[in-house]
Amino acid sequence: MTDPAQALRDVQSRIDHAAKIAQRRADAVTLIAVSKTHPADAIVPLIAAGQRVFGENRVQEAQDKWPGLREAHAGIELHLIGQLQSNKADDAVALFDCIHSLDRSSLVGALAKAMDKAGRQVPCFIQVNIGAEEQKGGCAIAALPALLAETRAAALPVIGLMCVPPLDIEPAPFFALLDKLADDHGLAGRSMGMSGDFETAVMLGATHVRVGSALFGTRE
Ligand SMILES: *Cc1c(COP(=O)(O)O)cnc(C)c1O
Repeated sequence: MTDPAQALRDVQSRIDHAAKIAQRRADAVTLIAVSKTHPADAIVPLIAAGQRVFGENRVQEAQDKWPGLREAHAGIELHLIGQLQSNKADDAVALFDCIHSLDRSSLVGALAKAMDKAGRQVPCFIQVNIGAEEQKGGCAIAALPALLAETRAAALPVIGLMCVPPLDIEPAPFFALLDKLADDHGLAGRSMGMSGDFETAVMLGATHVRVGSALFGTRE
């Protein structure tokens, strides 16, 4: 693997370039460094290089890794990008600064309750099953208006939409669709784009890109 600081500069400059082409401000895009499966030792160099926003897909793994890292490094912002079970809502609200995987009714209730109890508002993205894939998480596009209404009734802080497009197909139409849905619902945030396609996502309006392997190398 190349030098993590170099990898970070490369990814950031690719984001900047894509933003420039799309006549967007590069600082309108937050780079989330997805550190899932990587140990603290692999994360520290990125923190040292200035990265502060990280993403994890499992509550338990994040609980094991991040309290120590946060004690040693100020200003860390942690995003949950993976599926969340309702019975982990309290843990997720305590640990994460943003949740990208709100995708069903039962989680609306669980998260609202957890945030009330903790006295802590954690911004959420609604994950949309943008390619209508059977095995994939995310709310169906047709179910989005009702789910959004529920989040509003529960006063959950929803800041945008998130998607993971189908593998091995050109992702641009899916990103464009998520952008349109967010627009339609008056939501500013678009969490879309991973190592293989974040430049396309930035050109199509991503406000948050979730990049793992381009920063950390391939996972086991
Ligand atoms: C793992 C993961 C990523 C990062 O994937 P890379 O291809 O390694 O950049 C982004 N989003 C989600 C939801 C993930 O699970």
